[in-house]
Amino acid sequence: MGHSPLDYTLSWTGRGAAERLGAVSSSPRVSQVSVPVSAQLFERAAAVIPGGVNSPVRAFKSVGGTPRFIASARGCTLTDADGNEYVDLVCSWGPMILGHAHPAVVEAVQKVAPGGLSFGAPTEAEIELAEAIAGRVAPVERVRLVNSGTEATMSAVRLARGFTGRSKIVKFSGCYHGHVDALLADAGSGVATLGLPTSPGVTGAQAADTIVLPYNDLEAVAAAFAANPGEIACVITEAAAGNMGAVAPVPGFNEGLRKLTSEHGALLIMDEVMTGFRVSHSGWFGIDGVAGDLYTFGKVMSGGLPAAAFGGRADIMNHLAPMGPVYQAGTLSGNPVAVAAGLATLRAADEQVYATLNKNAERLGGLMTDALSAEGVPHRVQFAGNMVSVFFAENPVTDYAAAKASETWRFPAFFHALLDAGVYAPPSAFEAWFVSAALDENAFDRIAAALPAAARAAAAATPEGPAA
Ligand SMILES: *Cc1c(COP(=O)(O)O)cnc(C)c1O
Repeated sequence: MGHSPLDYTLSWTGRGAAERLGAVSSSPRVSQVSVPVSAQLFERAAAVIPGGVNSPVRAFKSVGGTPRFIASARGCTLTDADGNEYVDLVCSWGPMILGHAHPAVVEAVQKVAPGGLSFGAPTEAEIELAEAIAGRVAPVERVRLVNSGTEATMSAVRLARGFTGRSKIVKFSGCYHGHVDALLADAGSGVATLGLPTSPGVTGAQAADTIVLPYNDLEAVAAAFAANPGEIACVITEAAAGNMGAVAPVPGFNEGLRKLTSEHGALLIMDEVMTGFRVSHSGWFGIDGVAGDLYTFGKVMSGGLPAAAFGGRADIMNHLAPMGPVYQAGTLSGNPVAVAAGLATLRAADEQVYATLNKNAERLGGLMTDALSAEGVPHRVQFAGNMVSVFFAENPVTDYAAAKASETWRFPAFFHALLDAGVYAPPSAFEAWFVSAALDENAFDRIAAALPAAARAAAAATPEGPAA
């Protein structure tokens, strides 16, 4: 594994890399020990990239320590710049269901790349990817490809407003729909990790038409429709929430949203960027069968390259330019390399893969429960399909308030003990853990071996920080 004692110490200090490097050079006892390459790269990165990262949760801010810089990945493992190997339970935040560098996906990319990287004109493969998406999710009759999940939700909301002629939108606390201005209010994922209510730079006007309600609370949705008659264009929800940790919709919640939106002439946008093609062949729709009017996809559908999509009812989607007046476009949309990776991923993701993902998620959750129970740590391992997460709480977590009220201060110690033992969990108490179908016996052995010490660390943690 190659963890030096210094590496261990560093990962527990929670101080910035620069301070750490200073401490190293000023201390004669440790000056002999080389600073990990990841820490050196983080310092270099921080001089040119804000916070040293291109997406905030990567920075390890809420867990302390410095991020591992990844050199390569294969199957279920990541290898960092120091040569340490980790069992990957993040999977690029969802996309890599087949594992890293899956031969069929790599081959597809290698096959198309020599034929040109971008044309700004349509290709046959785009039709195939759109057909594959529509073929898996029955309510999706038309698909448009974009470059990120953020673009997908931004475009779906614009289309919902254009189609209905209404301004207001409903979103739920703790749900994350990308960094769209109007959707950042009380968002999950990195916004939750950093404890931000919203973001400076989002104007009052952009936020004013967003109604934020508690997740899993149909009465609040009914009250919002009653208070804003004829004004709500859409309700956008994660089909099953994964960005405040895994929080599945309670029975009847998605059905209730379907009923209320239909009654009030509003559209239901199912954000399946995280769940789509991960939790089943047909995403969360394949689990609860509740049809949205519009859908957003990303992550799995592009196999790790930058592509995403939105789609839905033909009568709504036909309001998009060039057929209709709602404008939406993209220089690199439908990029041939990204489309090839997405198609290869969906083609390889058969029922066997989904059965394996479910089995692996259950096994991971079981191991976490066993280890934490053995140490008497109050916790709930929760599932949303095959997305897993652990809340340090006594009761089931069904909304963002409960997620925030959990003992999140136990998480950094739990996380770092796993990392030190070669298990790479999401560096945030508010994120789902993602399994791949590539997890093997060796990986589960390593997870099982790492968990007891992690559970002890969680047990020993205090709200002020890890026990000395
Ligand atoms: C990741 C995510 C997004 C944003 O996708 P990006 O590609 O990161 O812009 C939107 N919605 C949900 C549910 C997500 O999980």
